[in-house]
Amino acid sequence: MLSVFENEPYPDFSQSVPQQKMREALAFVSGQLGKEYPVKVEGREVETGKKVVSINPSRPEQIIGTAYSADSNMAERAVEIATEAFGSWSLVSAEERAGYLVKAAAIMRRRIYEFSAWLTLESSKNWLEAYADTAEAIDFLEFYAREAIRWGGAHPTTPAVGEENEVRYLPLGVGAVISPWNFPLAIMAGMTAAALVTGNTVITKPAEQTPIIAHKFFEILEEINLPPGVAQLLCGDGEIVGEALTGSPKIRFVCFTGSRDVGIHIYERAAKVPPGQKWLKRSILEMGGKDAIFVDEDADLDAAADGVVAAAFGFGGQKCSACSRLIAHTAIYDVLLEKVISKASKLTVGDPAENASLGAVIDLDSYAKIRTYVNTIGVSEGRRVLGEDLPETPSGGYFVSPTIFADVQPDSRLAQKEIFGPVLSVIRCVSFEEGLSIVNGTDYGLTGAFFSNNRAHIEKAKREFHVGNFYVNRKCTGALVDVQPFGGFNLSGTDSKAGGRDYLGLFLQAKSVCERW
Ligand code: NAD
Repeated sequence: MLSVFENEPYPDFSQSVPQQKMREALAFVSGQLGKEYPVKVEGREVETGKKVVSINPSRPEQIIGTAYSADSNMAERAVEIATEAFGSWSLVSAEERAGYLVKAAAIMRRRIYEFSAWLTLESSKNWLEAYADTAEAIDFLEFYAREAIRWGGAHPTTPAVGEENEVRYLPLGVGAVISPWNFPLAIMAGMTAAALVTGNTVITKPAEQTPIIAHKFFEILEEINLPPGVAQLLCGDGEIVGEALTGSPKIRFVCFTGSRDVGIHIYERAAKVPPGQKWLKRSILEMGGKDAIFVDEDADLDAAADGVVAAAFGFGGQKCSACSRLIAHTAIYDVLLEKVISKASKLTVGDPAENASLGAVIDLDSYAKIRTYVNTIGVSEGRRVLGEDLPETPSGGYFVSPTIFADVQPDSRLAQKEIFGPVLSVIRCVSFEEGLSIVNGTDYGLTGAFFSNNRAHIEKAKREFHVGNFYVNRKCTGALVDVQPFGGFNLSGTDSKAGGRDYLGLFLQAKSVCERW
């Protein structure tokens, strides 16, 4: 019997012991850099013609590792292998499947600083952000293990005389998990774990920018001796491996987290029924956001400024939950803006291995996109009050310092498009009602927060602030597994809730069984 689920605690990195552990882990991982990671097909390592070189965004000349890319034939073969493995894995009891996840969690917990150090180097997360990513991966493993047992148990039905009725939840089949680079461990491991613990077999395609941490996770899955074919890792291009998986007639479901455009593309592709496909594919899609913090006229402005700065600039604004719009009531607009600028200007930008507040943004493409928003669109659509023009060629890593545009119009590109960098747009509203309508005035609906001391406004915002994760008087980032199940509305996704109690249902189908006697 498993103990009650508890979230993995975080260390206090102002203390010398965790600092020492992180430095040791970084030194250890630095000695492991530059290795090659072949594709594994049927247990054999294959060095394909194409590779993805993973680099440290803070020091692009540093190679984290080289992952060989799969091609569409390999994807097809992986689907066949997974289909074969499904026959026996789907019959394994929920308790036994859960046991695998708990063992994987225990191994990751023993290596928590090492995994965090890989994240610091591969995705440019500072110590706490990296640790939180690993801790969340452990939480997903532990939580879904317990949830799988619950879903695998008895489910009540209304009694009928002369009949024995029951509902059982069955796995779906072979799933494709397609993950992003911004939580390259937690989201990749969480989606993979949810798929396999429910009795499905799974092929995981991680983001091109962060293949090495995915290989590290799959090393753990090998160590726990998952039966062959239950979980396969295929690194490579989304347009090649991802397309091959989402279009395959033998894929039963796609579980994706990433951008809006790719999510919509997968949704349309998965909706087509190719010849030979016997089902309608299920799509579980978590997509982008344009998240807002709305500050009312009577709010605690210091608390609000702290929340805004943490949510806008933590991990360089590269969380889907990041605050990219600050909507401030005109009565407190100027005072709040000053506080936000003052706090944001104290953040340090630099090597996250040295625990700077913000590391680099993930890659050159991302840097170039943010540069266009900062240098061109931003200055034409807002008043820049923090940050400076970015050079075309960044010296060293892809660093962007916190940037704030004030007096932004709610319908401008700055206020509507997901920039995915440390860029905050500040919007003035003249009333609570107007603020609420600005909040809801994008295509997204992922996270949001409201700072206020007005009970009537708080209750109305709880009802009408249309996001999947809504917070009152705190920041809009930092959701914890089963504390704040996570996922958004509208074009932020298919309304699922990762780390919530209904999540595993998305990987299952209910069978109603009736015996007359
Ligand atoms: P992305 O959409 O560029 O890539 C995500 C994954 O999709 C990658 O593995 C990529 O290789 C793959 N892919 C690309 N083209 C594909 C195709 N044609 N077919 C199949 N797969 C394909 O996203 P990203 O840049 O890695 O991640 C950032 C985005 O993810 C942001 O928009 C962010 O808001 C979003 N995100 C959302 C959540 C959430 O829970 N809603 C969480 C994290 C990130």
